[in-house]
Amino acid sequence: MKYIDEYRDSGKALEYLNAIRRITRHDWTIMEICGGQTHSIVKYGIDELIPKEINLIHGPGCPVCVTPIEKIDKAIEIASNPDVIFCSFGDMLRVPGTKSDLLKVKAKGFDVRIAYSPVDAVNIAKQNPEKEVVFFAVGFETTAPPNAQAVYLAHKQNLKNFSILVSHVLVPPAIEAILDSKNNRVQSFLAAGHVCTVMGYKEYEQIVRKYKIPIVVTGFEPLDILQGIYMCIAQLEENRYEIENQYARVVTREGNIKAQEIMKEIFEICDNKWRGIGEIENSGLKLKKKYSEYDAELKFGVINYYVEESKECISGLILQGLKKPLDCPVFGTKCTPENPLGATMVSSEGACSAYYLYKDKKLVNKE
Ligand code: SF4
Repeated sequence: MKYIDEYRDSGKALEYLNAIRRITRHDWTIMEICGGQTHSIVKYGIDELIPKEINLIHGPGCPVCVTPIEKIDKAIEIASNPDVIFCSFGDMLRVPGTKSDLLKVKAKGFDVRIAYSPVDAVNIAKQNPEKEVVFFAVGFETTAPPNAQAVYLAHKQNLKNFSILVSHVLVPPAIEAILDSKNNRVQSFLAAGHVCTVMGYKEYEQIVRKYKIPIVVTGFEPLDILQGIYMCIAQLEENRYEIENQYARVVTREGNIKAQEIMKEIFEICDNKWRGIGEIENSGLKLKKKYSEYDAELKFGVINYYVEESKECISGLILQGLKKPLDCPVFGTKCTPENPLGATMVSSEGACSAYYLYKDKKLVNKE
Protein backbone atom coordinates (compact mmCIF):
# COMPACT_ATOMS: atom_id res chain seq x y z
CA MET A 1 0.00 0.00 0.00
CA LYS A 2 1.17 3.50 -0.81
CA TYR A 3 -1.38 6.12 0.24
CA ILE A 4 -2.90 6.88 3.64
CA ASP A 5 -6.51 6.19 2.59
CA GLU A 6 -5.50 2.64 1.65
CA TYR A 7 -4.83 2.06 5.36
CA ARG A 8 -8.42 3.14 6.03
CA ASP A 9 -10.10 0.93 3.41
CA SER A 10 -13.37 -0.34 4.88
CA GLY A 11 -13.44 -3.47 2.69
CA LYS A 12 -10.01 -4.56 3.88
CA ALA A 13 -10.94 -3.65 7.46
CA LEU A 14 -13.91 -6.03 7.18
CA GLU A 15 -11.61 -8.79 5.93
CA TYR A 16 -9.35 -8.31 8.96
CA LEU A 17 -12.32 -8.24 11.31
CA ASN A 18 -13.61 -11.52 9.87
CA ALA A 19 -10.13 -13.03 10.17
CA ILE A 20 -9.94 -11.95 13.82
CA ARG A 21 -13.42 -13.38 14.47
CA ARG A 22 -12.40 -16.69 12.88
CA ILE A 23 -9.37 -17.23 15.12
CA THR A 24 -10.68 -15.88 18.45
CA ARG A 25 -11.66 -18.73 20.80
CA HIS A 26 -10.93 -17.36 24.28
CA ASP A 27 -11.12 -14.11 26.27
CA TRP A 28 -8.02 -11.94 25.83
CA THR A 29 -6.86 -8.58 27.10
CA ILE A 30 -4.56 -6.53 24.88
CA MET A 31 -3.03 -3.18 25.78
CA GLU A 32 -2.18 -0.64 23.11
CA ILE A 33 0.78 1.28 24.49
CA CYS A 34 0.42 4.51 22.58
CA GLY A 35 -2.21 7.22 22.97
CA GLY A 36 -2.13 7.73 19.19
CA GLN A 37 -3.26 4.12 18.82
CA THR A 38 -5.98 4.69 21.46
CA HIS A 39 -7.33 7.61 19.43
CA SER A 40 -7.42 5.52 16.23
CA ILE A 41 -9.13 2.64 18.05
CA VAL A 42 -11.84 4.86 19.55
CA LYS A 43 -12.21 7.14 16.52
CA TYR A 44 -12.76 4.24 14.09
CA GLY A 45 -14.82 2.19 16.58
CA ILE A 46 -12.36 -0.72 16.45
CA ASP A 47 -13.01 -1.55 20.12
CA GLU A 48 -16.71 -1.99 19.29
CA LEU A 49 -16.18 -3.97 16.08
CA ILE A 50 -13.83 -6.68 17.30
CA PRO A 51 -15.22 -9.81 19.00
CA LYS A 52 -16.47 -9.22 22.55
CA GLU A 53 -13.90 -11.74 23.81
CA ILE A 54 -11.15 -9.17 23.10
CA ASN A 55 -10.76 -6.41 25.66
CA LEU A 56 -8.60 -3.52 24.47
CA ILE A 57 -7.18 -1.47 27.31
CA HIS A 58 -5.30 1.77 27.03
CA GLY A 59 -1.69 2.14 28.05
CA PRO A 60 0.61 4.84 29.40
CA GLY A 61 1.97 5.97 26.02
CA CYS A 62 0.73 9.54 26.09
CA PRO A 63 3.74 11.76 26.86
CA VAL A 64 1.65 14.73 27.89
CA CYS A 65 -0.45 12.59 30.24
CA VAL A 66 2.49 11.08 32.13
CA THR A 67 4.48 14.29 32.60
CA PRO A 68 4.52 14.69 36.39
CA ILE A 69 2.44 17.51 37.82
CA GLU A 70 5.60 18.80 39.55
CA LYS A 71 7.16 19.38 36.10
CA ILE A 72 4.10 21.35 35.01
CA ASP A 73 4.41 23.49 38.15
CA LYS A 74 8.13 24.00 37.41
CA ALA A 75 7.31 24.97 33.82
CA ILE A 76 4.73 27.48 35.10
CA GLU A 77 7.23 28.98 37.54
CA ILE A 78 9.96 29.32 34.89
CA ALA A 79 7.53 30.69 32.28
CA SER A 80 6.31 33.30 34.79
CA ASN A 81 9.75 34.91 34.79
CA PRO A 82 9.68 38.12 32.66
CA ASP A 83 13.22 37.40 31.44
CA VAL A 84 12.20 34.05 29.93
CA ILE A 85 10.83 32.99 26.57
CA PHE A 86 9.23 29.62 27.32
CA CYS A 87 8.77 27.32 24.30
CA SER A 88 6.67 24.18 24.30
CA PHE A 89 4.75 21.81 22.07
CA GLY A 90 1.16 23.09 21.93
CA ASP A 91 -0.29 20.07 23.77
CA MET A 92 1.43 21.04 27.01
CA LEU A 93 -0.16 24.48 27.29
CA ARG A 94 -3.49 23.37 28.71
CA VAL A 95 -2.21 20.59 30.96
CA PRO A 96 -3.27 21.47 34.49
CA GLY A 97 -0.61 21.93 37.14
CA THR A 98 -1.53 22.35 40.80
CA LYS A 99 -3.11 25.76 40.40
CA SER A 100 -2.64 26.95 36.83
CA ASP A 101 -1.45 26.02 33.34
CA LEU A 102 0.92 27.49 30.76
CA LEU A 103 -1.92 29.01 28.73
CA LYS A 104 -2.99 31.09 31.74
CA VAL A 105 0.63 32.20 32.20
CA LYS A 106 0.62 33.29 28.56
CA ALA A 107 -2.72 35.08 29.07
CA LYS A 108 -1.10 37.07 31.88
CA GLY A 109 1.34 38.45 29.31
CA PHE A 110 4.38 36.26 29.82
CA ASP A 111 6.23 35.07 26.73
CA VAL A 112 5.04 31.48 26.23
CA ARG A 113 5.37 30.25 22.65
CA ILE A 114 4.31 27.12 20.81
CA ALA A 115 7.32 25.60 19.07
CA TYR A 116 7.10 22.86 16.47
CA SER A 117 10.71 21.80 16.97
CA PRO A 118 13.27 22.26 19.76
CA VAL A 119 15.69 23.52 17.13
CA ASP A 120 13.28 26.46 16.59
CA ALA A 121 13.81 27.28 20.27
CA VAL A 122 17.58 27.28 19.73
CA ASN A 123 17.09 29.81 16.92
CA ILE A 124 14.86 31.94 19.16
CA ALA A 125 17.69 31.94 21.73
CA LYS A 126 20.15 33.12 19.07
CA GLN A 127 17.80 35.93 18.03
CA ASN A 128 17.11 37.02 21.65
CA PRO A 129 20.46 37.10 23.47
CA GLU A 130 19.03 39.30 26.23
CA LYS A 131 16.45 36.63 27.15
CA GLU A 132 16.67 33.13 28.63
CA VAL A 133 15.00 30.65 26.25
CA VAL A 134 13.67 27.41 27.74
CA PHE A 135 12.22 24.48 25.80
CA PHE A 136 9.87 22.03 27.55
CA ALA A 137 11.47 18.74 26.47
CA VAL A 138 8.78 16.13 27.10
CA GLY A 139 8.01 12.82 25.50
CA PHE A 140 9.08 9.26 24.87
CA GLU A 141 12.00 7.96 22.83
CA THR A 142 10.42 9.64 19.79
CA THR A 143 11.07 13.23 20.88
CA ALA A 144 14.30 12.60 22.79
CA PRO A 145 16.56 12.69 19.66
CA PRO A 146 15.45 16.15 18.44
CA ASN A 147 15.65 17.48 22.00
CA ALA A 148 19.15 16.04 22.30
CA GLN A 149 20.02 17.60 18.95
CA ALA A 150 18.91 21.02 20.22
CA VAL A 151 21.24 20.76 23.24
CA TYR A 152 24.04 19.50 21.01
CA LEU A 153 23.59 22.50 18.68
CA ALA A 154 23.43 24.98 21.58
CA HIS A 155 26.61 23.47 23.04
CA LYS A 156 28.39 23.58 19.69
CA GLN A 157 27.45 27.23 19.20
CA ASN A 158 28.36 28.08 22.81
CA LEU A 159 24.85 29.42 23.34
CA LYS A 160 24.50 30.35 27.02
CA ASN A 161 20.87 31.52 27.09
CA PHE A 162 19.25 28.22 26.08
CA SER A 163 18.14 25.38 28.35
CA ILE A 164 15.59 22.56 28.44
CA LEU A 165 13.15 21.41 31.10
CA VAL A 166 13.47 17.65 30.71
CA SER A 167 10.64 15.17 31.22
CA HIS A 168 11.55 12.20 29.07
CA VAL A 169 10.15 8.74 29.68
CA LEU A 170 11.01 5.32 28.27
CA VAL A 171 8.55 2.64 27.17
CA PRO A 172 10.20 -0.73 28.06
CA PRO A 173 10.48 -0.01 31.85
CA ALA A 174 6.80 1.04 31.86
CA ILE A 175 5.82 -2.25 30.17
CA GLU A 176 7.77 -4.16 32.82
CA ALA A 177 6.17 -2.13 35.63
CA ILE A 178 2.71 -3.01 34.26
CA LEU A 179 3.62 -6.70 33.97
CA ASP A 180 5.16 -6.75 37.48
CA SER A 181 2.03 -5.23 39.04
CA LYS A 182 -0.06 -7.67 41.07
CA ASN A 183 -3.14 -6.16 39.40
CA ASN A 184 -1.87 -6.77 35.89
CA ARG A 185 -4.37 -8.19 33.42
CA VAL A 186 -2.51 -7.48 30.16
CA GLN A 187 -1.86 -10.62 28.08
CA SER A 188 -0.36 -9.02 24.99
CA PHE A 189 0.84 -5.59 23.85
CA LEU A 190 0.56 -3.52 20.70
CA ALA A 191 3.93 -1.73 20.95
CA ALA A 192 4.16 1.86 19.75
CA GLY A 193 5.34 1.99 16.14
CA HIS A 194 6.93 5.44 16.32
CA VAL A 195 8.97 4.65 19.46
CA CYS A 196 10.25 1.51 17.72
CA THR A 197 11.06 3.55 14.62
CA VAL A 198 13.70 5.23 16.76
CA MET A 199 14.69 2.44 19.14
CA GLY A 200 14.00 -0.68 17.05
CA TYR A 201 12.51 -3.65 18.92
CA LYS A 202 15.60 -5.39 20.28
CA GLU A 203 14.76 -4.13 23.79
CA TYR A 204 11.42 -5.96 23.69
CA GLU A 205 12.96 -9.37 23.00
CA GLN A 206 14.01 -9.91 26.62
CA ILE A 207 10.58 -8.71 27.86
CA VAL A 208 8.87 -11.28 25.63
CA ARG A 209 11.17 -14.03 26.96
CA LYS A 210 10.99 -12.98 30.62
CA TYR A 211 7.20 -12.56 30.81
CA LYS A 212 6.24 -15.05 28.07
CA ILE A 213 3.97 -12.44 26.49
CA PRO A 214 3.37 -11.63 22.80
CA ILE A 215 4.29 -8.12 21.67
CA VAL A 216 3.45 -6.80 18.21
CA VAL A 217 5.04 -3.54 17.02
CA THR A 218 2.04 -1.77 15.48
CA GLY A 219 1.29 1.36 13.47
CA PHE A 220 -1.50 3.88 13.87
CA GLU A 221 -3.90 3.54 10.96
CA PRO A 222 -7.05 1.41 11.35
CA LEU A 223 -5.70 -1.43 9.20
CA ASP A 224 -2.38 -1.34 11.10
CA ILE A 225 -4.24 -1.77 14.37
CA LEU A 226 -6.54 -4.50 13.08
CA GLN A 227 -3.54 -6.40 11.73
CA GLY A 228 -1.68 -5.88 15.02
CA ILE A 229 -4.67 -7.26 16.95
CA TYR A 230 -4.88 -10.23 14.57
CA MET A 231 -1.17 -10.98 15.12
CA CYS A 232 -1.57 -10.77 18.94
CA ILE A 233 -4.64 -13.04 18.94
CA ALA A 234 -2.94 -15.57 16.63
CA GLN A 235 -0.02 -15.83 19.06
CA LEU A 236 -2.26 -16.01 22.13
CA GLU A 237 -4.51 -18.70 20.65
CA GLU A 238 -1.48 -20.72 19.50
CA ASN A 239 0.23 -20.29 22.90
CA ARG A 240 3.21 -18.55 21.29
CA TYR A 241 5.04 -15.52 22.64
CA GLU A 242 7.21 -13.63 20.18
CA ILE A 243 8.05 -10.09 19.19
CA GLU A 244 6.48 -9.48 15.78
CA ASN A 245 6.64 -6.41 13.61
CA GLN A 246 3.38 -5.29 11.96
CA TYR A 247 4.90 -1.86 11.18
CA ALA A 248 7.68 -3.26 8.99
CA ARG A 249 7.21 -0.50 6.42
CA VAL A 250 8.85 1.84 8.96
CA VAL A 251 10.41 -0.14 11.83
CA THR A 252 13.54 -2.28 11.79
CA ARG A 253 14.96 -4.41 14.61
CA GLU A 254 17.88 -2.01 15.09
CA GLY A 255 15.93 1.25 14.78
CA ASN A 256 17.47 4.58 13.90
CA ILE A 257 21.10 4.27 15.04
CA LYS A 258 21.96 7.94 14.46
CA ALA A 259 18.99 9.05 16.59
CA GLN A 260 20.03 6.61 19.33
CA GLU A 261 23.61 7.95 19.23
CA ILE A 262 22.62 11.58 19.75
CA MET A 263 20.34 10.52 22.63
CA LYS A 264 23.22 8.63 24.26
CA GLU A 265 25.56 11.59 23.79
CA ILE A 266 23.29 14.03 25.62
CA PHE A 267 21.11 11.99 28.02
CA GLU A 268 21.54 9.25 30.60
CA ILE A 269 18.95 6.94 32.12
CA CYS A 270 17.43 7.84 35.50
CA ASP A 271 14.52 6.84 37.72
CA ASN A 272 11.45 8.83 36.80
CA LYS A 273 8.06 9.74 38.18
CA TRP A 274 5.03 9.23 35.92
CA ARG A 275 1.94 11.34 36.52
CA GLY A 276 -0.75 9.29 38.26
CA ILE A 277 1.45 6.19 38.32
CA GLY A 278 4.46 7.07 40.48
CA GLU A 279 8.16 6.34 40.31
CA ILE A 280 9.39 3.71 37.83
CA GLU A 281 13.00 2.62 38.06
CA ASN A 282 15.24 3.50 35.10
CA SER A 283 12.28 4.85 33.14
CA GLY A 284 13.46 8.38 32.34
CA LEU A 285 16.23 10.41 30.78
CA LYS A 286 18.19 13.30 32.28
CA LEU A 287 20.95 15.46 30.90
CA LYS A 288 24.47 14.15 31.37
CA LYS A 289 26.70 16.14 33.73
CA LYS A 290 28.68 17.41 30.74
CA TYR A 291 25.52 19.22 29.54
CA SER A 292 24.14 20.30 32.94
CA GLU A 293 24.44 24.00 32.03
CA TYR A 294 21.45 23.34 29.70
CA ASP A 295 19.33 21.97 32.54
CA ALA A 296 16.57 24.52 33.21
CA GLU A 297 15.79 23.02 36.63
CA LEU A 298 19.35 23.79 37.78
CA LYS A 299 19.49 27.14 36.00
CA PHE A 300 16.26 28.40 37.61
CA GLY A 301 16.64 26.56 40.93
CA VAL A 302 13.37 24.63 40.63
CA ILE A 303 14.57 21.35 42.10
CA ASN A 304 12.66 19.83 45.03
CA TYR A 305 8.97 19.99 44.26
CA TYR A 306 6.41 17.60 45.64
CA VAL A 307 2.69 18.08 45.15
CA GLU A 308 -0.41 15.98 45.73
CA GLU A 309 -2.34 14.93 42.65
CA SER A 310 -6.10 15.43 42.31
CA LYS A 311 -7.99 12.82 44.32
CA GLU A 312 -10.88 12.94 41.82
CA CYS A 313 -8.81 12.12 38.72
CA ILE A 314 -8.30 8.41 38.08
CA SER A 315 -6.06 8.91 35.03
CA GLY A 316 -3.24 6.97 36.74
CA LEU A 317 -5.47 3.88 36.83
CA ILE A 318 -6.49 4.49 33.21
CA LEU A 319 -2.84 4.79 32.12
CA GLN A 320 -2.10 1.45 33.80
CA GLY A 321 -5.04 -0.21 32.03
CA LEU A 322 -6.92 -0.79 35.31
CA LYS A 323 -9.84 1.53 34.48
CA LYS A 324 -11.36 3.12 31.38
CA PRO A 325 -12.38 6.77 31.00
CA LEU A 326 -16.10 6.03 31.38
CA ASP A 327 -15.32 4.55 34.83
CA CYS A 328 -14.34 8.04 36.03
CA PRO A 329 -17.24 9.55 38.02
CA VAL A 330 -16.50 13.08 36.79
CA PHE A 331 -15.92 12.22 33.10
CA GLY A 332 -17.87 14.59 30.85
CA THR A 333 -19.42 16.41 33.79
CA LYS A 334 -16.93 18.08 36.12
CA CYS A 335 -14.05 17.15 33.78
CA THR A 336 -14.27 18.22 30.13
CA PRO A 337 -11.70 19.43 27.56
CA GLU A 338 -12.65 23.02 28.50
CA ASN A 339 -12.22 22.37 32.23
CA PRO A 340 -9.86 19.41 32.51
CA LEU A 341 -9.01 17.88 35.89
CA GLY A 342 -6.36 15.62 34.40
CA ALA A 343 -3.93 15.59 31.49
CA THR A 344 -5.64 12.63 29.78
CA MET A 345 -8.59 14.95 29.03
CA VAL A 346 -6.53 17.61 27.21
CA SER A 347 -3.80 15.71 25.41
CA SER A 348 -4.41 14.88 21.75
CA GLU A 349 -3.22 11.36 22.72
CA GLY A 350 -5.14 11.13 26.01
CA ALA A 351 -7.65 8.32 26.48
CA CYS A 352 -10.24 10.57 28.19
CA SER A 353 -9.98 13.02 25.31
CA ALA A 354 -10.49 10.18 22.78
CA TYR A 355 -13.64 9.01 24.57
CA TYR A 356 -14.93 12.57 24.84
CA LEU A 357 -14.36 13.22 21.15
CA TYR A 358 -15.53 9.99 19.61
CA LYS A 359 -17.75 7.98 21.93
CA ASP A 360 -21.53 8.23 21.81
CA LYS A 361 -22.47 11.54 23.40
CA LYS A 362 -25.23 9.76 25.36
CA LEU A 363 -22.44 7.95 27.22
CA VAL A 364 -20.38 11.10 27.57
CA ASN A 365 -23.15 13.36 28.92
CA LYS A 366 -24.17 11.15 31.78
CA GLU A 367 -26.20 13.82 33.58
S1 SF4 B 1 -12.16 12.21 32.99
FE1 SF4 B 1 -10.85 13.86 33.82
S2 SF4 B 1 -10.81 13.47 36.01
FE2 SF4 B 1 -11.52 11.59 35.05
S3 SF4 B 1 -9.67 10.39 34.71
FE3 SF4 B 1 -10.02 11.54 32.83
S4 SF4 B 1 -8.79 13.39 33.08
FE4 SF4 B 1 -8.99 12.47 35.13
